[in-house]
Amino acid sequence: MLYVSTRGHADRKHFCEILLEGLAPDGGLYLPERYPQVDSATLAKWRGLPYADLAFEILSLYIDDIPAADLRAICRKTYTEKVFGTTEIVPLKKLEDGLCLEALSNGPTLAFKDMAMQLLGNLFEYELARRGEELNILGATSGDTGSAAEYAMRGKKGVRVFMTSPHGRMSPFQQAQMFSLQDANIHNIAIEGVFDDCQDIVKAVSNDLDFKRKYRIGTVNSINWARLVAQVVYYFAGYFQATSPLPEGEGAKKVSFTVPSGNFGNICAGHVARSMGLPIDKLVLATNENDVLDEFFRTGVYRVRAAADTHETSSPSMDISKASNFERFVFDLLGRDGPRVKSLFGEQLSAQGKFDLSADPAFKHARERYGFISGKSTHADRIATIRDTHERFKATIDTHTADGLKIARQHVQPGVPMIVLETALPIKFAASIVEALGHEPERPPQFEGIEKLPKRVKVMPADVKAIKEFIAAECA
Ligand SMILES: *Cc1c(COP(=O)(O)O)cnc(C)c1O
Repeated sequence: MLYVSTRGHADRKHFCEILLEGLAPDGGLYLPERYPQVDSATLAKWRGLPYADLAFEILSLYIDDIPAADLRAICRKTYTEKVFGTTEIVPLKKLEDGLCLEALSNGPTLAFKDMAMQLLGNLFEYELARRGEELNILGATSGDTGSAAEYAMRGKKGVRVFMTSPHGRMSPFQQAQMFSLQDANIHNIAIEGVFDDCQDIVKAVSNDLDFKRKYRIGTVNSINWARLVAQVVYYFAGYFQATSPLPEGEGAKKVSFTVPSGNFGNICAGHVARSMGLPIDKLVLATNENDVLDEFFRTGVYRVRAAADTHETSSPSMDISKASNFERFVFDLLGRDGPRVKSLFGEQLSAQGKFDLSADPAFKHARERYGFISGKSTHADRIATIRDTHERFKATIDTHTADGLKIARQHVQPGVPMIVLETALPIKFAASIVEALGHEPERPPQFEGIEKLPKRVKVMPADVKAIKEFIAAECA
């Protein structure tokens, strides 16, 4: 399998070449040159496989430069009951007839990003060892991504993590999760500034090509194809569970998914699964007040928000001004027309901050051919949904999952199980749970008292030169 860029101008590459790369050299994102097709005989064969082996079957369709035995070992080492809490790894929890949650947040940092990041950590270690290379991951986080990356890379040979975060602005639980890590290869850098300052520092360092090459700077952000393909697996696992048993045979029943969305990474994996032939009816995209994507699927206009128009909400991991993975879907929607994608996401977005596909026949295909629908929810909706779910089902859900559940209910259809992806556990966003329920959410035992553990963090000014010196000293 070879990979192409959404902007049409990069060389075709194999999986391990793009694994350690971020953007393609032409500024586009990598996608496989075609989606492998899965027929009903294959689905029947996969039904009942343990999660790790299902992951191997799916990944091996996309990865032809890691020997099968090694890839299977990597999957088995990643998706264990010990790391993810259950033998199913992503168990379904039924709420009411035709509506259930798929638990994706029982990994080490209690958010769905662990599903892909844990695999990425093992793939990085494997590939770096094979090449005899090292990698320094530099990132900016306001919460979930940074901790998922650190827990995935801690103790891994050949990898160091330098994670910047805005000093004093993450929740106490999120700070404790990250700063309590004592591993020598994990470096927390609290920047005296806001999240945008952290992102600017990462950009400035990455744009210094000499520094980047000399210190082998890389990233783990959600545009990495390896993260996306790892996420494809839980759409299959959700389908198998929601349609079991299936005496009529594979394909007799479809399912729909609702996905709380920010950067379009999670739901893009659903689009890939559907494109491979997984019987998915609707992909329901849920946003919070930051409704860039809901606006597109309603109107055909993709309009990037300015910083001042990006709201701070109680589902903060969905507070985005533009959706960094969205270009992948638009590439497919426009019949894989690289030059056109380049003009839309390159020239038009930089000149006008938006593009308009409402008059393009392709826009209709988003709904009709690709099954997308969308909705948006608000803080009041989240609080009401958390309260209602607790009262009726004795289940506590987090604010992001609540955005999903709220929108999912509007799109449930008879005979089509609706699966809402649970993207975080409520303990990560305790203040909203207290607001909704009047009491603290349950805390998994391994996190008892983490706020009191010693913290390993360096507070630094928002100064690119100082960060570079810090990285250089650690690599010396
Ligand atoms: C990252 C994140 C999201 C958004 O996922 P995307 O892939 O960016 O669409 C939603 N919920 C939680 C809890 C997250 O951490």
